[in-house]
Amino acid sequence: MSNLTERFPSWPMADENQEKELLEALRSNQWWRMSGTKVKEFERVFAQMHHAKHTLAVTNGTHAIKLALHSLGVKPGDEVIVPAFTFISTALPVISLGAIPVPVDVDPGTFCLDPVKVREAVTPRTVGMIPVHMAGHLCDMDQLQQIADEFHLFIIEDACHAHGGEWKGKRAGSMGDAGVFSFQQFKLMTAGEGGALITNAQDLYDQAFLYHNVGRPVGDKKYQHLVEGSNYRISEFQAAVLLPQTARLAEQNKRREYNAQVLDAEMKEIDGIIPQIRQEECTIHTHYMYMFYYNPVEFGGITRERFVEMLNEQGIPAYIAYTQIHDTPIFKQFVADLGDNYAFPNQLHCPVSKKIAEEVIWIHHRALLGDAESVKGIAQTVRELQASTKAKLV
Ligand SMILES: *Cc1c(COP(=O)(O)O)cnc(C)c1O
Repeated sequence: MSNLTERFPSWPMADENQEKELLEALRSNQWWRMSGTKVKEFERVFAQMHHAKHTLAVTNGTHAIKLALHSLGVKPGDEVIVPAFTFISTALPVISLGAIPVPVDVDPGTFCLDPVKVREAVTPRTVGMIPVHMAGHLCDMDQLQQIADEFHLFIIEDACHAHGGEWKGKRAGSMGDAGVFSFQQFKLMTAGEGGALITNAQDLYDQAFLYHNVGRPVGDKKYQHLVEGSNYRISEFQAAVLLPQTARLAEQNKRREYNAQVLDAEMKEIDGIIPQIRQEECTIHTHYMYMFYYNPVEFGGITRERFVEMLNEQGIPAYIAYTQIHDTPIFKQFVADLGDNYAFPNQLHCPVSKKIAEEVIWIHHRALLGDAESVKGIAQTVRELQASTKAKLV
């Protein structure tokens, strides 16, 4: 078995353009967004890339979700539908505003919010939903929008895995009332930390700007604080690191798509492995993660956790998938605090999310940024591990 460590590019990636931008920011002596130019330039380009009118760059993706919810007027007691299988940050900002995140089951093939289950979970208290474009596969935005229109719900697209992704030619984040992105270290664009909110609605943008700037409007010199906001501003240095990445994202997305197809073709043939499916309507799948079900029965009973370690030992950046959100200690406490007076519309019954949380492995996207041979190396490693575990059983 050959170790693949050297075959995959490292992540994040630094280049001369970023060095140049960073130095420029440093020497400009304008290090915050209010007087600098880099954040504004980044926002302009990012909005354009996503076919949206406005971008507000912020501290991180979690804050971007909170700003979107706050700006859309979410109040204590409101219900907001979220996928049961997602990173906890899709739900935490809902809780922090006193509202109730309602975990709803996802599709077993795409791992994205299941529109049928969404419809069943709508109650008179539901005000909106936060679909997550899981691992870069876009949610069924047609069906979700139809439900949103019917029940007058907002949609915040959690596009933290889907920078530059597309659904029938429309860009991730631009279809809902707002879209949110993360620039944390592992994401498809990164400044170590950072986030963005995009929207086509001027009033939502204006409101989010106020909340992110301790309630102060643009150009305020009189210490006006119009709303109860906080400080979610991003610095010029983060924008300097992000700007050159806007130019390379499309090419990297193409490469990930190509390599994911190469990997799919091989992984599908392995007993006990079932990769995430790709719907045709998802015209750009960004492949933040390469996800697949793992069946230990076909691997000599080796647990998923141990199998991930074995992949790691061969240089493959694999991890077990998220815990479903309502199985985390924080969410359990939240449910306990709600008490007997509240019942979740689906009784928190999400069998598909549970199965994914228990069976799925994912590989970080940097492993899809090498050449096709390095990707085939992943499938080869899986086959060899399978052969060796079976041999031991005999
Ligand atoms: C990373 C992530 C977030 C939160 O972004 P941060 O920048 O880490 O706060 C939210 N939702 C999903 C699905 C994510 O993967």
